[in-house]
This record gives sequence, C-alpha cells and structure tokens, in this order.
Amino acid sequence: MDHFWTPWRFAYVSTADTSVRPGVPASLSAWPGDLGCVFCNLIASIDFAIANGKSSAEAEEAGGLILRGKHCFICLNAFPYTSGHVMVMPFAHLDRLAALPTEAAHELIDLAQRTEQALQRIYTPQGFNFGMNVGQAAGAGVAGHIHLHAMPRWTGDTNFMTTIGETRVLPEDLETTWKRMRAAFAELEIR
Ligand SMILES: [Zn+2]
Repeated sequence: MDHFWTPWRFAYVSTADTSVRPGVPASLSAWPGDLGCVFCNLIASIDFAIANGKSSAEAEEAGGLILRGKHCFICLNAFPYTSGHVMVMPFAHLDRLAALPTEAAHELIDLAQRTEQALQRIYTPQGFNFGMNVGQAAGAGVAGHIHLHAMPRWTGDTNFMTTIGETRVLPEDLETTWKRMRAAFAELEIR
C-alpha cells in the first residue's frame, strides 16, 4: 500500500529550483510576487502573464493548468506518479477539507468526476486513485493548500512504476499530458 501513497509526499517538494520561486514556472517568472505557496504562486503567475499580454492558452500550458472552475481548478502534477496524474484543488488557500465552503466542495467533486471521464477517455485505465492527504502528518507535500490527487491505474502498474531511488518510469511527458487533457475536456464539452 505504501506504493500508492508515499510518492505523493514528494509532489512539488522536489521543486527545489532556486532560480524561480516555488510553483512559478520559469517562463512565467515575470510575476514579481511570492505568496509562500506553490499552488497560489502557480495561479498568480499564470494570471499575471495573461493580464500582461500572454494568451491564456500559452500561460496555462506553461503552468500545466488544465481547467478553471468557479472555485476550483485542475492542473498537472509536476512530478507525476503515472501518466495523467493531475490534481483538483480550490483557488482558496485552505489547509482543511472541512474549511472549504460547501459550494466549492461540491465543485471539487464535480471536477473530480469530470477528471475521471477525461482520464477514462484518454488512457482507458482499469481503475483510478483519487486521494487527498490533509496535513503534513498524513503525507501532504503541500500541507497548507488542500489538493485532490487523481490518476489512472492499471493492474500491475506498481511493478514498473514503483519508485526506485526516486526515479520513476514515465511513458509520457507533461506537455503531452496537458494537450491530451485539454482536448479531452473540450471533447466532453465540459469546459
Ligand atoms: Zn495556496
């Protein structure tokens, strides 16, 4: 069971790129701020780029942002455990699921359902993991900002996906995943 959950501890923690602030993609580093949270930084740097002339598609691709809802968004996990490993989370910086207003909590699950449909369409997996680590003690890599991990799974995939010294076997790059996810959501008419 460790294999299912442990890798998520490392999500985003490995963004130890000293040239940019955590969560800010290199190509969006014109944003001057730092909110002290990788997810808040990600959204702020995307919004700043769009407000300053970048097309939303370009800025969102740079940040791995797949879909914006009213309260929540879907983005790529920068250190995926499997192809199609994405996250659904609120825009609001909240550290407890119970702190999420009802409307936002409902949208979170709504987006999770849509994510399942999109992942099904793209990867035809045999199953899915949907999971949330709330709090550092529970293994949250970013404990201050709740996020729901979603990923497709196949029977036996832990055999070759298992982390070996932090090195993971990944059959697909993030740019490809982003393009496929955007296309799938467009096809499902759920944007
Ligand atoms: Zn945050």
